[in-house]
Amino acid sequence: MERAEAVVVGSGPNGLAAALTLARAGVGVEVYEGAATVGGGMRTEALTLEGFSHDVCSAVHPLLEVSPFFRALDLEGLGIRLRQPEVAFAHPLGAGRAAAVYRDVGETASHLGGDAAAYRALLGPLVDWLGSVADYVLSPMRAVPRDPLALARFAVVGTPSAAHVSRRFSTDAARAIVGGAAAHSMQPLSAPLTAAYGLLLTALGHGAGWPVVEGGSAAIAEGLAAEVRRRGGVVHTGRWVTSLDEVVGARAVLLDVSPRQFLRLAGTRVSRRAGRPWARFRPGPGACKVDWALDAPVPWSAEPCRRTVTVHVGGTFDEVARSEAAVRVGRHPDRPFVLVAQPGVVDPTRAPAGKETLWAYCHVPNGSDVDMSERMEAQIERFAPGFRDLVLARTVRTAAAAESDNPNLLGGDVNGGAATLRQTAFRPVARWNPYRTPLPGVYLCSASTPPGGGVHGMCGVAAAEAALKERFERGPGPVPVRRGR
Ligand SMILES: Cc1cc2nc3c(=O)[nH]c(=O)nc-3n(C[C@H](O)[C@H](O)[C@H](O)COP(=O)(O)OP(=O)(O)OC[C@H]3O[C@@H](n4cnc5c(N)ncnc54)[C@H](O)[C@@H]3O)c2cc1C
Repeated sequence: MERAEAVVVGSGPNGLAAALTLARAGVGVEVYEGAATVGGGMRTEALTLEGFSHDVCSAVHPLLEVSPFFRALDLEGLGIRLRQPEVAFAHPLGAGRAAAVYRDVGETASHLGGDAAAYRALLGPLVDWLGSVADYVLSPMRAVPRDPLALARFAVVGTPSAAHVSRRFSTDAARAIVGGAAAHSMQPLSAPLTAAYGLLLTALGHGAGWPVVEGGSAAIAEGLAAEVRRRGGVVHTGRWVTSLDEVVGARAVLLDVSPRQFLRLAGTRVSRRAGRPWARFRPGPGACKVDWALDAPVPWSAEPCRRTVTVHVGGTFDEVARSEAAVRVGRHPDRPFVLVAQPGVVDPTRAPAGKETLWAYCHVPNGSDVDMSERMEAQIERFAPGFRDLVLARTVRTAAAAESDNPNLLGGDVNGGAATLRQTAFRPVARWNPYRTPLPGVYLCSASTPPGGGVHGMCGVAAAEAALKERFERGPGPVPVRRGR
């Protein structure tokens, strides 16, 4: 068979977004996915019992709502139906209490006692600037921002650590909101930029919501792959690429892989010297993931936790900070910070009537093979007495096991690389065009490039735009539909 003009290796959100961007511009594209199904981080499987569907990786999609790539798609037309909970996320604090981020800033603030005014003053403007800030942080971050003032103001509050920002508040509820959202960065809460993670994710909770996809995140992968095919692209599954020799002949090759794997695929084509900065790219901590089939919904003591999909389980800001700090120094916390998703709150298709699926992970040192399920269950039980009695079945995937499932998950890192200050500004290596590799016509398009981890597709779009300009001398094709935010 004749080689397509462009080849994409890997069909995660970024691989599929790259393929679709190329196909829209009229470039013939072929996608090679090693796994049996498309999607990478967007897969849904019966991991426990028949009739229970679990998201293998990504489950909750706040970034999808603001991603320029997804906003330009007719999601419903592609079979991608977003389901929004009333409460974006909640954070139980014991004695039947929980901090909760409602869609409305005022309603959220009204539950924060003495911190109501401070919360409104911090989050209100961020929600107003959300469109411009999200557009910029989901871009290669090399051009002048559309709204430099909004970005400058976001940088002022976001560049310090989450610990610094939490000092604006005196209630455990407001501090927990900041800490739980910031811990998604997988960095100690005293690290610079962790405030940016926490504040952006919280502002997304207000401005866009934290939705799930009906039926599971595999629906996103299936919708995107169908659209690539509809535009003439070819998508292969079960085809691992082990060397760039297997894709010679294409004018552009886009790799939805880690920097480490790029070096393996390139072999002797990249000199030791040229490859050194790529070899230095650092993965972040790992994640131990647990999925449960439950006999009934989780009996959270605090009512807001029963009205949301995402629950941040870990106690106060200081407890969450201790858990993340322990991981940083290579320890497994006794009381881990657990990110929990209960899609059944808005999506009854995930389990038989009356039953529930539960998804959770906690951070662990990179490459850890420790099963954290007992410690995670103890944390959930702390805020939902009786939870353990509901467990019908569970599966555990340790951080070490994640990489054999998907080679991009280096040592179980879910974010495509540590979110340090350096690797946020320069990812995967320090160069103006972060998608180019030392090899002409070969581009990296995975979450190890800007803007990084999450289901937004923008690494793929930017890499494909670089390839279109340099290898095909054209711009991106027409973008069909545009949804407002
Ligand atoms: C446990 C977990 C939970 C997460 N939760 C969320 C969440 O709730 N919300 C969110 O937005 N994000 C979440 N993420 C992050 C999100 O899934 C990733 O950031 C995103 O999937 C990265 O997309 P990608 O296209 O760069 O790579 P991936 O999605 O990892 O896809 C890469 C694909 O390339 C394939 N591949 C790799 N090498 C080769 C090769 N040599 N040949 C052929 N194929 C190859 C892989 O099989 C894989 O299918 C989570 C991730 C994990 C692991």
